[in-house]
Amino acid sequence: MSLKVYINGTLFDKEDAKISVYDHGLLYGDGVFEGLRSYDGKVFRLDEHLDRLYESAKAIWLKIPMAKADLAKAVNDTVATNGIKDGYVRLIVTRGAGSLGLDPNRTSDPQVIIIADSITLYPKEYYENGLEIVSVSTIRNHPAALSPRVKSLNYLNNILAKIEGLQAGCVEALMLNHKGEIAECTGDNIFLVSRGDLLTPPVEAGILQGITRDAVIELAKNDGLVVRETALTKHDVYIADECFLTGSAAEVIPVVKVDSRPIGDGKPGVITRELSKRFHELTRS
Ligand code: PMP
Repeated sequence: MSLKVYINGTLFDKEDAKISVYDHGLLYGDGVFEGLRSYDGKVFRLDEHLDRLYESAKAIWLKIPMAKADLAKAVNDTVATNGIKDGYVRLIVTRGAGSLGLDPNRTSDPQVIIIADSITLYPKEYYENGLEIVSVSTIRNHPAALSPRVKSLNYLNNILAKIEGLQAGCVEALMLNHKGEIAECTGDNIFLVSRGDLLTPPVEAGILQGITRDAVIELAKNDGLVVRETALTKHDVYIADECFLTGSAAEVIPVVKVDSRPIGDGKPGVITRELSKRFHELTRS
């Protein structure tokens, strides 16, 4: 059976799921999206993802043409129709088809697209042995130009950083902000463990406020850890005892080397492994 893709209320076979080449989502990256996970058929933190989607849309003057509750139902129905148990959901809202000019007033019919599919995670060995990442020269978008809090369809900033990372032989890359502080990775948030405390850049550093990031902060606090959302530099990363990344697709993944420097003893840390285990339990509970 072919995968069914939802577009504006209709389910299409994957091969027939198409939108206009005049859509401003394609022409200008003008739209917003979310990447969600389902575990045992249930979408993890769907409400939080929908809140972020609607906020991203609001920030770019895009009106999502359906109520949040209806979109939630559409996501759940698309997951169920495709028989997805442990999978990945891509939720997209484009500005819709318009003219060849920029003017968003000349677009009509925002396209609401839901793809529920399987997910290719990083290989298991990365979770067991940890990732190596590098810091790259492409800085994260300046918040006054395009706030990284907006999960927009324009991911060129992240893609350019990803290319730099890949050229250095790494699957993730660490991006700084315009002040030279640690921001986040191309598709993941970053955490450090230092003297037993959990540190992560604040949202004001110019990052996406990750749903996984929020969940891990909650778990850490419940575990009695001190969590500090604070400006961090590369120096803080280099001298950290532990480092890990969080994201819907990656979940919690240890980092053992940054810019060729071993982090801590060069192995996934104790607190990283504990939080990773707890996150796993949370998603499967
Ligand atoms: N930062 C960026 C730039 C991202 O694209 C993502 C999502 N892939 C994240 C962080 C992690 O966010 P979440 O935990 O909500 O998936």
